[in-house]
Amino acid sequence: MAAGEVIVIPCLSDNYTYLVRCHRSEVTAIVDPGEAGPVIAALEERDWSLDLVINTHHHHDHIGGNAELIEKYGAKLLGPTAETARIPNMDETCGEGDQVLIGDLEGRVFDVPGHTSGHIAFYFPAITALFSGDSLFALGCGRLFEGTPEQMWHSLQKFRNLPASTQVYCGHEYTQANAKFAKTIEPDNAILIARCQDIDGLRARNLPTIPSRLDVELVTNPFLRADEPSVAAALGMSGESPVAIFTEIRKRKDNF
Ligand code: ZN
Ligand code: FE
Repeated sequence: MAAGEVIVIPCLSDNYTYLVRCHRSEVTAIVDPGEAGPVIAALEERDWSLDLVINTHHHHDHIGGNAELIEKYGAKLLGPTAETARIPNMDETCGEGDQVLIGDLEGRVFDVPGHTSGHIAFYFPAITALFSGDSLFALGCGRLFEGTPEQMWHSLQKFRNLPASTQVYCGHEYTQANAKFAKTIEPDNAILIARCQDIDGLRARNLPTIPSRLDVELVTNPFLRADEPSVAAALGMSGESPVAIFTEIRKRKDNF
């Protein structure tokens, strides 16, 4: 039996929140509950309780369900040390290099500033799962509300060396819009074009495009490809730095 599992729960209009269950210990956590209702429904369906709420950043669509879930289940709250002042009632905080536990499932914490200044992400090797919040999206990245393109580019680099089969669980179902944009950057990327067709098929049936695989992101997500000579050439920016190219891609997406 696998060490654990992840259950994808759509919430609000286009958010995802994720139940993470350690099978041996039966400890259960929720990542970024934008609202409580769908989480409670998923727990009751399985006859599970909730031990831990984990937040990647302070935005309301990721923490809006915290209070109700903590009140109902007595769950502990864990989130980014750098956002202590902006996420109420955290029991524990963490940052770059720290280890977090969901029962026996050990997670590694990354600081990934850019979308917010204290944004963190979690990687759990035993379930090959990356919870990226609004840093890395399927075929995209988060808007830069509290950081620079340079910060976000460096944040995203931290995911590069995770295993190829890493499942990326991000904060939103933005994939179809991201796909349309990605095609404007790399219209000749055959893997991207094929992926876009898969995405359209999933969305036509109202199915999640999440999780995606890290190795697929690396060859199709323009925000991970700012150091590819072919991407630089497509933008007419050959020879410029990856940060300059990332900045241009982010600017184009903001105006797309
Ligand atoms: Zn956000
Ligand atoms: Fe969000």
